[in-house]
Amino acid sequence: EMAALTRIGLAGLAVMGQNLALNIAEKGFPISVYNRTTSKVDETVERARVEGNLPLYGFHDPASFIQSIQKPRVVIMLVKAGAPVDQTIQTLSAHMEKGDCIIDGGNEWYENTERREKAMNELGLLYLGMGVSGGEEGARNGPSLMPGGSYEAYQRIEDILLKVAAQVPDSGPCVTYIGTGGSGNFVKMVHNGIEYGDMQLIAEAYDVLRSVGKLSNEELHAVFSDWNKGELLSFLIEITADIFTIKDDKGEGYLVDKVLDKTGMKGTGKWTVQQAAELSVAAPTIEASLDSRFLSGLKDERVEASKVFGPGILSGGPEVDKAQLIDDVRQALYASKICSYAQGMNILKAKSTEKGWWLNLGELARIWKGGCIIRAIFLDRIKQAYDRNANLANLLVDPEFAKEILDRQAAWRRVVSLAINYGVSTPGMSASLAYFDSYRRDRLPANLVQAQRDYFGAHTYERTDMGGAFHTEWFKIA
Ligand code: NAP
Repeated sequence: EMAALTRIGLAGLAVMGQNLALNIAEKGFPISVYNRTTSKVDETVERARVEGNLPLYGFHDPASFIQSIQKPRVVIMLVKAGAPVDQTIQTLSAHMEKGDCIIDGGNEWYENTERREKAMNELGLLYLGMGVSGGEEGARNGPSLMPGGSYEAYQRIEDILLKVAAQVPDSGPCVTYIGTGGSGNFVKMVHNGIEYGDMQLIAEAYDVLRSVGKLSNEELHAVFSDWNKGELLSFLIEITADIFTIKDDKGEGYLVDKVLDKTGMKGTGKWTVQQAAELSVAAPTIEASLDSRFLSGLKDERVEASKVFGPGILSGGPEVDKAQLIDDVRQALYASKICSYAQGMNILKAKSTEKGWWLNLGELARIWKGGCIIRAIFLDRIKQAYDRNANLANLLVDPEFAKEILDRQAAWRRVVSLAINYGVSTPGMSASLAYFDSYRRDRLPANLVQAQRDYFGAHTYERTDMGGAFHTEWFKIA
């Protein structure tokens, strides 16, 4: 039974809420929990008992839930983004007092957070939008946390967040105050966009190795396990290696071969791409990964098209040396990944400037090193790049990354060319390479596009050899 008031409350006990509440309780912070459907409250209380008599207390009605928390109160919400968040805020805030604080831990659109923060402030309540990454396992054992909004509110729970977050040796807990307004949700959104890129690039590596290199699942397991010992060491490479070992429990062979080739999505990747366009930031790798999900969804159309054009890989490509291919694909994956992260960081940088968030990009790389889905040794390199130069124009021109790209570009080009010759699409790797090749060229064919614009629309052009805006009556000269 509860002896005194609890330190914090959590409302919304689906996968994320239940596990985060247990994590908080386990770190020694007494917590009150509430959920609209009360059976989940009882379920959570039972788990807290079984998992070690954790100081977690369940409530079936919002009034007694709120009253059980010490003042000024802090309540974390983990409910479905959108209208459910507004409804939950209404339910909770009805029982709260001036100075209390609500934290939305969901994958919320950042503008919703900014709207709610304003409305809460008018009621004298504080508000935070906190990105939580790491899925079920992260929430239970240590997620990456991206809290943004009221700094005062952040300070009030900093001691809890520092303990609850994933702990990475030598770089500390995976949490930092992100910035004001909806910055925490925005950073989480871009994190998810980067995650789309990583997953797509890994899938392309798999496709090239399987379709061109004819690697078996056993060989793929060995290759990804090996990659996970080096520069690609990461959660996603690790689980990918695992996936190739799992046998089908409903039939013959491996499970991965029975999974329908249709990728689901919940929206954060699409938002990232929309924001990139809003900000006029090129993010072709992340866009390619989103487009690939759209195309994957057209399974029936693809099956029809395969009857028209032929289904599989093209024959007659050059013979490939398996060992060389494996090594090339590893390098192509790494170089492509650098481009993808450069794009994600540029989206964050542009938004930070627009909103005055003062995002610390190196610090973001640090808090993504543990707990979250994109956790990887690679993030150390990004942190170091921003430590060398906090105002880096693009990750590609950091001297270390530049050298890594130069070392890998021959292999990268071989993989993309090979894939094109075999008719195996590598939209992420190709987009990354095109991004690199555009970014590194001092002169692009944009002169012609601008000439066309001036020809048909009198949009004017600048010159390479003198200042000012020029217009030419091109058609009269011709
Ligand atoms: P979810 O499936 O997104 O949401 C279920 C929860 O929302 C339940 O507690 C449900 O209550 C509540 N809810 C739905 N509509 C409601 C309403 N109208 N009023 C009050 N409560 C309502 O849960 P989740 O997967 O745990 O995710 C929670 C948040 O974390 C989401 O924003 C999600 O995007 C984000 N997130 C999820 C993951 C993940 O791996 N699942 C990872 C990172 C972030 P009832 O039980 O009463 O229906």
